[in-house]
Amino acid sequence: MRLQASTFGFREISTPIFEHAELFTIKSGPSILEEMYAFTDKGGRDITLRPEITAPVIRFFVNELTDAPRPLKVFYIGPCFRYERPQSGRFREFFQFGAELIGAQNPESDAEVIALAASIVEKAGLKDYRIRVGHIGILRKKLRDAGVSPEMIPSILQKLDKKLYDDARPIMEQAGMSDGSIDEVIGITKVTGTVSVLEDFEGESRDYLQDVAKILDASHVKNLRIDLGVIRGLDYYTGVVFEVDVLNLGAEKQVCGGGSYSLSELFGGERVFSTGFAIGFDRTLLVLEEEGFKAPRRAIEAYVIPVSERMREKAFEIASALRARGIAADVDLMRRNLAKNLKYANSIKARRAVIVGEKELETRCVIVRDMETGDQRAVKIDDLVEFFVKCGGNGV
Ligand code: ATP
Ligand code: MG
Repeated sequence: MRLQASTFGFREISTPIFEHAELFTIKSGPSILEEMYAFTDKGGRDITLRPEITAPVIRFFVNELTDAPRPLKVFYIGPCFRYERPQSGRFREFFQFGAELIGAQNPESDAEVIALAASIVEKAGLKDYRIRVGHIGILRKKLRDAGVSPEMIPSILQKLDKKLYDDARPIMEQAGMSDGSIDEVIGITKVTGTVSVLEDFEGESRDYLQDVAKILDASHVKNLRIDLGVIRGLDYYTGVVFEVDVLNLGAEKQVCGGGSYSLSELFGGERVFSTGFAIGFDRTLLVLEEEGFKAPRRAIEAYVIPVSERMREKAFEIASALRARGIAADVDLMRRNLAKNLKYANSIKARRAVIVGEKELETRCVIVRDMETGDQRAVKIDDLVEFFVKCGGNGV
């Protein structure tokens, strides 16, 4: 993930684990308090463990980075905490990886962020995923045109986001909408497919979304689908919104959510448009596990064994020289005898054992044993690092 993000020109940022509760109630409304590990500290301050990292990043931007060249491209990875009912894929402590592109608002900046999310999901090894992209402007306009007052729009969108049509309908009626336009709005949330489904939705948002799709296509983003039912509930989303679902994940199938938004003015800054997303790290791992994925572990290339007490320092000298060249080397720390050491080397799947014996040392050699084949050969200590480099010893 870090590698993907830096390949896209994003830089890592860290923010505190606990924050003033206000930071999140300003962003998401007081109802977020129920979802947070919020408490009063000894100084009487209202504190919370962070439930997400976008608000802290934007607060940091407003306080420290408003003069930085734009767009500002940052990413983060860290623990988040939510007071939710724990169940599969839903934890009270979980890791989020996310990115924010701050200070740009056009199809290419949105596409850039979606392409990064796509690239991470793809590189992580997920198979059955799909990226659903919508534009909140299309529904907002429909609601405005139907005469809904701006204050009513968020509560309608929240219900539609969760597909709670029976709850959304009375609110829309109350907002003065006709049955026809209610049906039309509900119809829009069900529009999904290729870019061609946008044909009927003439307007600025539609053109914008089409441009985003073109750039994503040029960037070879796969598994993309237009979905006007992606709403992402909250008020600060301004345009493009997207989610990544994994089909075999059941109820908690969403691994990533994001979109373009404007938050800085809520934290005392000027209005600055941003686009970002957050990926649930733990959920992603769950899917990978289910898909039978085994995390590659860097192999130990050399397990260094001193055959006697007097060889101990030499063993460390050798391990240190290998490590200095980036070759993964381990060394006996348990004062085991040779046979037990070889058994241990086997159990940690070391590729080779380097046996440091007194007799060989007289000719400045060590024995290198291939743990798979059992082949042994003497290698000059001076040539040992090169020997491992040639074996490809600095790979995964
Ligand atoms: P959901 O609808 O599943 O509750 P959300 O809208 O609360 O998701 P976001 O706030 O957008 O999710 O968080 C981004 C990602 O973080 C989610 O897509 C999900 O993968 C992950 N996530 C959110 N809450 C949890 C949790 N309690 N445990 C594990 N992962 C989570
Ligand atoms: Mg949630």
